[in-house]
Amino acid sequence: MTTITQVKKYLNYINGEWVSSSRGCVERSINPANKNEVVGLIQSSTEEDVNKAVAAAKRAQKKWRSLSGTERGDFLYKIANSMERRLDEIAETMTKEMGKTLPEAKGETMRGISILRYYAGEGMRKTGDVIPSSDSQALMFTTRVPLGVVGVISPWNFPVAIPIWKMAPALIYGNTVVIKPAQEAAVTAAKIIECIDEAGIPTGVVNMVTGSGSIVGTAIVNHSDVNGITFTGSNATGKKIGQAALARGAKYQLEMGGKNPVIIAGDADLDLAVEGTISGGLRSTGQKCTATSRVFVQADVYDSFKEKLLERVKEITIGNGMESSTWMGPCTSENQLNTVLSYIEKGKGEGATLLYGGERYTANGAEDGFYVYPTIFDDVTNEMVIAQEEIFGPVLALIKVNTIEEALTLANDVEFGLSASIYTKDIGTMMSFINEMDAGLVRINSETAGVELQAPFGGMKQSSSHSREQGQAAIEFFTAIKTVFVKA
Ligand code: NAD
Repeated sequence: MTTITQVKKYLNYINGEWVSSSRGCVERSINPANKNEVVGLIQSSTEEDVNKAVAAAKRAQKKWRSLSGTERGDFLYKIANSMERRLDEIAETMTKEMGKTLPEAKGETMRGISILRYYAGEGMRKTGDVIPSSDSQALMFTTRVPLGVVGVISPWNFPVAIPIWKMAPALIYGNTVVIKPAQEAAVTAAKIIECIDEAGIPTGVVNMVTGSGSIVGTAIVNHSDVNGITFTGSNATGKKIGQAALARGAKYQLEMGGKNPVIIAGDADLDLAVEGTISGGLRSTGQKCTATSRVFVQADVYDSFKEKLLERVKEITIGNGMESSTWMGPCTSENQLNTVLSYIEKGKGEGATLLYGGERYTANGAEDGFYVYPTIFDDVTNEMVIAQEEIFGPVLALIKVNTIEEALTLANDVEFGLSASIYTKDIGTMMSFINEMDAGLVRINSETAGVELQAPFGGMKQSSSHSREQGQAAIEFFTAIKTVFVKA
């Protein structure tokens, strides 16, 4: 057991300084692979801390927005370089704090670095249009202006990539930032902020306040000087944030849950489809918003697909993400583990057949971690709770369908619309899928998870507030358009 005195304390970052929370309380961030290991102590902050952070961000705003895009971009390049130097340290912290395997954590950190460099470049690209005026003596054009202070509220499942894909565009377009990371990943967030500090970002441009969603998150959302709120997380939280932001006229962006389907057509390359289903559904312990959770398989290949899937799932090695032999790490928290186990019980109770897994994994000394077996349910019907609600764990539901039309109808019959994929060789089937699938991301002969940083990302239906993040689409949220009419 780690004693509290051996554990490093991480501070808030406000107005360019590392400071304790105003009430001086800390909480533990623990390792989900071994709940007795405390990864760090994080500040349990209050509304007062948020007020200080927002005031600092507001003071820094005028000077930051007056810099050119190239000058702001130079800071992003420096942050990227600092993160690159500390890549191993950041990735190891992520694995220890939220459980994903080290190769996945390294991949995510490298993605964060690429996102920073991508948006650094955006600082030199066009931000407006010239529009012919009906007055021949006038010049009419659009320009983009920053929102002002942006509140960033992020989840734990991509603790580097998500904060960066929100902060980098916010900063390049001239906004200043107050970020509240998820408590389960706040030490990892502190490492990013250390890199931002090392890069010499001007005082107050980026501020971090850690603590609970209900106190710190709510204070950011309700603060009258926070002009925009960008949130990624669960639907329950997103709805509250959207309502509060709307009530005071703040701009908001919500990216939320998914219940992502894969369709396996009768003509699919089954080996490829199995690989994509395993990778999309079970990597990161199923804790990706784009994770595959419903598997619609055409009846003529159902049994052979199931057999191949089972063979492959049995090979999955569960364990501490720091060990190179591990393919799947623990759930990120005890809470998350209990949620997954309760959905497994619901599935059994609803009459689905448990094909594999379905319980906690405690072998090889894993009883102190939040491990669960990869789980596959057979004979699932689309109205079952396990086919409708987001589980956010390594659970796959197999659903037999007769036709592609039936698969598409059922795949669309959920409240979410984040990502979807299909395995087929038929161009007609591909086209029907592209046209009829209600999802913000559709992928063919590829798993449901997998987002490229230069492309727009976001969901349809209840998965999103219908805005898009990443790529050039990010400018829509982080700026306002100003139309300018000039007559000399
Ligand atoms: P969560 O909603 O519990 O928490 C997200 C963040 O909101 C955390 O920082 C939390 O502290 C904060 N928060 C909680 N209550 C709040 C409140 N009342 N006011 C303001 N902030 C509050 O989500 P989570 O468990 O951290 O993340 C998992 C969820 O995120 C899943 O539903 C997943 O699908 C979703 N997600 C979506 C995307 C996407 O891009 N669509 C990406 C990753 C994760």
